[in-house]
Amino acid sequence: MNTNDPNDMREENNMDGYLKIDKYNPEKITSLSNAYLQVLKDIGEDSNREGLLKTPERVAKAMQFLTHGYDLDPTEILHSARFREDYQQMVIVKDIEIYSLCEHHILPFFGKAHVAYIPDKYIVGLSKIPRVVEAYARRLQVQERLTTQIRDCIQETLKPLGVAVVIEAHHLCMQMRGIQKQNSVTTTSAFHGEFENDRTRSEFISLIGKRFI
Ligand SMILES: [Zn+2]
Repeated sequence: MNTNDPNDMREENNMDGYLKIDKYNPEKITSLSNAYLQVLKDIGEDSNREGLLKTPERVAKAMQFLTHGYDLDPTEILHSARFREDYQQMVIVKDIEIYSLCEHHILPFFGKAHVAYIPDKYIVGLSKIPRVVEAYARRLQVQERLTTQIRDCIQETLKPLGVAVVIEAHHLCMQMRGIQKQNSVTTTSAFHGEFENDRTRSEFISLIGKRFI
């Protein structure tokens, strides 16, 4: 991030309230834009028609945003808000929205993640759980690996008594192409520690309100 850029300073000085500033790596944008310009040509489009003139750059920026998880360190996110606490009951963060890209087709998959852990000496700021999910989701992924990466990160960083992760998602690579199953939902789950025992797992499943696992 370059905060010395005079354009940025002007924007920040003129703001009335909250201002969201998107920043991109200019070299990557140029390189990605060139690649997407070639894609437009290869699919037979006229890349000079008005509606497409800025498309390569827009897609380049979208792609940089959609994969910004590579620049995030989920372990650091959890370490930054880890607090000592004696609470030893289940903590659940459910219905975390996820938007990811399948690594086989670079098409979106999206849905909800439900995460639970049972603390052992340490808890974490609740907003950090969705941020860990986001850090792994905003990469090229498969749903299975996304699920276990979230579990393992929480397990290794907080060393809780148990971790549970359930993800339900729609995959556009299934819905728009291939077998065109429009309403299928893929569910993945990963459990560790106390969640490997039936009673704790059932309690978690009933608390997130699901019947299919
Ligand atoms: Zn796919």
